[in-house]
Amino acid sequence: MVRITGMTVSWTRHRFQGGVLALDAANTVVLRGDAARTFDRFEDPLEIACFAEAASLFRADELGGRRLAVADPLASAPLVLSIRETTDRLFRNAVHAGGGLAAADMTPFLRACADGLACADTLVGAPGRPFGDADTPVAVEAALATSALSLLAHDRRTRLKVCRNCNWLFLDRSRNGSRLWCDMAVCGNRRKASRHYRRRKAAPEVHDA
Ligand SMILES: [Zn+2]
Repeated sequence: MVRITGMTVSWTRHRFQGGVLALDAANTVVLRGDAARTFDRFEDPLEIACFAEAASLFRADELGGRRLAVADPLASAPLVLSIRETTDRLFRNAVHAGGGLAAADMTPFLRACADGLACADTLVGAPGRPFGDADTPVAVEAALATSALSLLAHDRRTRLKVCRNCNWLFLDRSRNGSRLWCDMAVCGNRRKASRHYRRRKAAPEVHDA
């Protein structure tokens, strides 16, 4: 099993269930909306470099094989977090609004994405080279922005969902669009188990840190 381990986080495949890079990043905040139990895997900014290393593998298809570069995690952190948070707000609200995008959420999202793209002098979206030339790495900020902007496409936006167990955002690529969980093997099974013991308090399970 591929496992890239930072100081506090093992960046396993389960951490990459969002369907696209930008949602994997949004999901580095666990249990959003649960004030008592939420936590941030980027609390230590050095984890951003480990995330980028793991995402280069787990998101190789989306990235067209281009690797992500983080020159200085501490310097990158404010913009990475800005793209992450504006992405989560825009698309989480879109899920609740049936795919509609709130103008008030779009402005900060587009500003953050513009700042992210400014970190890379590259050509994105070319056939076979969705994130630019795979021979050189691309700045993680630019890749996050490119991935997040791809979610604006109607056929992606209408497939966005929120996991019923852990509150992660994910892209449902199933044929009939019927997925309920970000990861059946983790969230699906935990919810089934908690239904089985329904006399117990059915609190959402936290992913292992
Ligand atoms: Zn989940």
